[in-house]
Amino acid sequence: MASTEASVVNKLRQPEYTGENRCYPCTYLNVFISVILSSFIGLFVSPPTGGIALVLSLVVIYLRGYIIPGTPTITQQYFPDRVLQWFGKAQSADKDVAKVSNEVIDSDLIEYSEKLEDLKLVDEVKNRWHTEIRKADQEVVEHRLKSLTKSDEVELREADGVAYVMADNEMVLQRRSRPAIVADIAILPILSVKLPSWERYSLNEKSDAMRVVRMFMDDCPACGSDLTLDQTAVESCCTSKEVYTLSCPECKTQMSEMPVAD
Ligand SMILES: [Zn+2]
Repeated sequence: MASTEASVVNKLRQPEYTGENRCYPCTYLNVFISVILSSFIGLFVSPPTGGIALVLSLVVIYLRGYIIPGTPTITQQYFPDRVLQWFGKAQSADKDVAKVSNEVIDSDLIEYSEKLEDLKLVDEVKNRWHTEIRKADQEVVEHRLKSLTKSDEVELREADGVAYVMADNEMVLQRRSRPAIVADIAILPILSVKLPSWERYSLNEKSDAMRVVRMFMDDCPACGSDLTLDQTAVESCCTSKEVYTLSCPECKTQMSEMPVAD
């Protein structure tokens, strides 16, 4: 019974609008509309029906990101930029990424190259990372994901241009592609040795560290071609933001996406 419930929940879940991708302006607007509509149902039909309507709406918003079709467009049109920016800042994710990112850059993983006049992965780290990627078959990935998330059951899934990890029926990690997740899992043993604070990091901080290191990858793990770094504007559901994208021009694998710092 429990597993049937879990599979219904997973079918309803829209990872592209929930978890890390949840858009808070849309979520709050939807909760607000649900409360108003349920109050009307409570007043004009019956209070219990209004209560049921509210609970159902909140469950759908939790699982799918929004309930009213077209909300992303509504918030983009009618919420002032200031409000949308405030919501963006309220998530405070960028501040945490900056802290972890400094630790990664100060570590033995990254060095300054006079020739490139830029930071790059230390060669030994790069070579070991690629070796680990080649060794990372399904069994290795699953085993490391279990230990990373401290879960008994993990599953790597793909849907609508995102790859994500479910651990004990909760989405815990999300990336642009499966090769990006495999690359992250492959570098875990290296990060745990090279980053002094690794053991004290939360799962989110570990995830940020993996994302930061992945931005320094220069060969596509799927086909071996040189990855290219671009800066583009990405339309999320109700804002547009500048991001760096790291992708493979040959096999089109999307490896990474990082917000451009303000
Ligand atoms: Zn490629």
